[in-house]
Formats: sequence, C-alpha cells, structure tokens
Amino acid sequence: MDRYLVFGHPVRHSKSPFIHTLFARQTQQELEYGLAEPAVDEFAHALRTFFDQGGKGCNVTVPFKEQAFTLVDRLSPRAKLAGAVNTIKLTDDGVLLGDNTDGAGLVADLKSHGVTLADSRILLLGAGGAARGALAPLLAELPSELVIANRTHTKAQQLAAEFHDLGPVTAQTYEQLAGPFDLVINSTSASLQGELPPLAPALIHTDIAIYDMMYGASDTAFISWAKQHGARQTMDGLGMLVEQAAEAFTVWRGIRPGTKQVLRELKRNLGVI
Ligand code: NDP
Repeated sequence: MDRYLVFGHPVRHSKSPFIHTLFARQTQQELEYGLAEPAVDEFAHALRTFFDQGGKGCNVTVPFKEQAFTLVDRLSPRAKLAGAVNTIKLTDDGVLLGDNTDGAGLVADLKSHGVTLADSRILLLGAGGAARGALAPLLAELPSELVIANRTHTKAQQLAAEFHDLGPVTAQTYEQLAGPFDLVINSTSASLQGELPPLAPALIHTDIAIYDMMYGASDTAFISWAKQHGARQTMDGLGMLVEQAAEAFTVWRGIRPGTKQVLRELKRNLGVI
C-alpha cells in the first residue's frame, strides 16, 4: 500500500492522519498515512530512510519546514516563494519534489467563508514562516493593499521588500496602523501562549473579517478579543489546515478531495461541534 506520513516535532497531536485517512476513503484511494517524530537533528536521515523504504510522499511541519526546503531535489514555484516546504512528493522519475500548500490552503478557506480578497485592504500580523507562505497567494488575489505588521518591525520590512514585485505590500509598525481594514489575518504565534498581538481595538469594526491561523477546541485569544471589540465574522485556522491538506493530497494523488464533510468530522473529533 502507498505510504505517506507527516514529519514534525512534536507531532503526536497532528490532525493530518485523521484528515488524509478521510480523504483516502472519500476518493477510494488505497494509502496509509502515519506520523514521524525524529529528533530535531535527525530529520534529514529520517526523511531519506522513509523514501528509501518506499514512501510516496510526506507532509512536513514545525520545526522542519525550512530544512525540508534544503533537502529536496526540486522546488515548486510556490515553495521557492515561501522559503519552506510542507509537502514532498516522490515523482515517477525518482525526484523529490518540494511544495508548499499552506498559502493556497489559507486562500481556499477564506473563499469558502465568502471573504472577498480582490480590492480589499488586508492586514497581515506576523512575519514568520506562515506569513511568508501566505503572501504570494494573497497578493495573487489582487487586494488593493496588503500591510504587514510585526513585533520585530525589521522582519516585516524585509518581507514587504521581498514581495514588493508581486503586489501592493508595505510594512507598518503596530503603532502606525490606520484603518479601516477589510480583513485581519493573525499569523503570529501569540495565541499559542494565550497572548495577543498589540493591535489597537479601534481597528476592529463590525464589517471586518478576522482570521486566526491558530485553532483549538475553543476561541483563540485573538478571536475572543476581536469578538469583544465588535467583530462579527471570525474564523480560525482549522479550515486552512484541511484545505492545505486537500492541496497536498491533490499533489500526491492527482485527485482533489472534498473538504466540507472532512472539516465537519474534524470539528466533531475536536469537540467543537
Ligand atoms: P514563526 O515562529 O515563524 O513566527 C511567529 C510570528 O509570531 C513572528 O512574526 C513573531 O514575531 C510573532 N509573535 C510571536 N509571539 C508574539 C506576541 N506575543 N506578540 C506579537 N507577535 C508575536 O511561526 P509560524 O509563522 O510558522 O506560525 C505562526 C502561527 O501560524 C502558529 O500559531 C501556527 O500554529 C499557525 N499556522 C497554522 C497553519 C494552519 O494550517 N492553520 C499553518 C501554518 C501555521 P517576531 O518576529 O517579533 O518574533
């Protein structure tokens, strides 16, 4: 049977096996999908061994995405732009192809929630790996402006300069931000510690859409905060997780699974519904 897995550390709580098993059942593909948690300095060896032993493809998550970028034979254009690889496929001619499906997953999820990106004013919080992966797919939707704000301002400036050729992207400090924005995407890891990015409450209004890439069984700190300040449309990153997985599955199997039912099952599994 064709073998796939996700590499990460820690990875025990990953939802990817659950999601890909449902995709396989739905599309009647024969495959198995597991987990691998190599020591941080043993990822390269573990990756090679997996493919030497017949593995067909894998996902890569924290903290290995940047290392995976350096280990594959060939990179997709979107992986090159993201500077990180979250999906690897062994091609028929034995080439390890590195791809990045995170940004496409974010955009697909935003669209599935009815969020309009064209001509919109987007604020992206954070300038780490997730922000970098999101930038090109977001700019491809032709927003009127995309502003990056990050705690370490120089990192936001670097990203804006790097992606400047792809669209109207600028960097501002949190203090400089002036609304109204149509959409705020939180790609910081602040919610992981129950913290908030230092965003002025005045930037939140009733028609704004709020997206937190993080997710959990209950509202993230950022979503709770935005709701308190009047945001009516709030979304967490669970849909992005399912959409990036669907994109990876399509890369591997050449068939696109449906995501709605799988997202519902995942929410049930997490106790969200
Ligand atoms: P990185 O570590 O690369 O970047 C973290 C970012 O968060 C940096 O910009 C950092 O700022 C900022 N940050 C951290 N703590 C705070 C704080 N207290 N206040 C303000 N800013 C803060 O992480 P990633 O980009 O890889 O991941 C970010 C988040 O996105 C994670 O929560 C991750 O779980 C989520 N994610 C979700 C996905 C999904 O499918 N739903 C996919 C990928 C990521 P500074 O530069 O100043 O340190």
